[in-house]
Amino acid sequence: MKHIDEYRDGAVALVLAEKIARAARAERQYKLMEFCGGHTHAISRYGIADLLPANVDMIHGPGCPVCVLPVGRIDNAIELAAQQPLTLCTYADTLRVPASKRLSLMQAKARGADIRMVYSVADALKMAQEHPARETVFFAIGFETTTPATALAIRAAERLQLANFSVFCNHVLTPPAMAEILGAPQVPGTVGIDGVVGPGHVSCVIGSRPYEQVAEDYRRPVVIAGFEPLDLMQAVLMLVRQLNLNRHEVENEYTRAVTREGNTKAQELMAEVFELRDSFEWRGLGEIARSAYRIKPKYRRFDAERRYGIAYRQAADHKACECGAILRGAKKPRDCRVFGSGCTPENPLGACMVSSEGACAAHYSYGRFRLPTECVV
Ligand code: SF4
Repeated sequence: MKHIDEYRDGAVALVLAEKIARAARAERQYKLMEFCGGHTHAISRYGIADLLPANVDMIHGPGCPVCVLPVGRIDNAIELAAQQPLTLCTYADTLRVPASKRLSLMQAKARGADIRMVYSVADALKMAQEHPARETVFFAIGFETTTPATALAIRAAERLQLANFSVFCNHVLTPPAMAEILGAPQVPGTVGIDGVVGPGHVSCVIGSRPYEQVAEDYRRPVVIAGFEPLDLMQAVLMLVRQLNLNRHEVENEYTRAVTREGNTKAQELMAEVFELRDSFEWRGLGEIARSAYRIKPKYRRFDAERRYGIAYRQAADHKACECGAILRGAKKPRDCRVFGSGCTPENPLGACMVSSEGACAAHYSYGRFRLPTECVV
């Protein structure tokens, strides 16, 4: 299949692995973070880490939408659905993320709250149109990839004069989180990242330009990559070569989809409907200034936070869960003592085990039975 088969060619992968091995200098380490959960999934699925030399280490980043959403935001959504006469709609993975008091949106639904799984915000909009006597709230999460669709729905709701539709907006932004991670190597519990594999889908929307300041400020290279195995191998090679030359530029491996300017129509749409929050809490990363959107006053009647007076309260993850450290790149899923025992995709204790983009779910699905190298006969 065009644009797939040629990016999964095993013979080419071996050639790239050889080039990476030759380029990687034996006297140094290369700690490379793949920011995006889609990349984490692909690295686990295709065994890419096994093709890299021992001194090239892939570190998982925070780019999984449900993983970075803090417990307090899920608690907000559960309380809203349980206490108000409304229908709360959201994406499937969000329903399964553990919240406080051993609850999740799925468990709140089982207890009687009207919570529905939707494939897109358009489904929630349609529900509001079909049931004008019932309030419908869309629990919006995700990075710049899903934000334009939420903006479009809010504009459509205004055009349709829908009085019973609103959005609980929790959309977050990639560049501030990337800057936070790159700027924090001296903080206990974090690791120094040498270079970043930049997200592909997000970059289709925002373009490669927003990373230029990040790369310059923190003197770290960023290579935007596609999601096929050869995309990732090529991106690793480009990062290793930049690091060898002490360069810190933004390069684009994913030229078939990403431009420097990105999708300007989508950017205009986001700018029309949303504005930056002063600060937003991310799971594992804490409060990050200007890292998330809220709905502009112009569209305030579609803002569920204003309509229902939602007040954010911090809440802790399960005490055994290491998601926070994993999202900072400080630990790997196997460092969690309940990985694969107390916490599995069927019974997740933490957010990183819920979505296929979560680091723990990816490791569980594709690496859990692999023997340590010294045991392989
Ligand atoms: S295995 Fe489960 S409990 Fe442990 S860090 Fe991952 S999601 Fe959290």
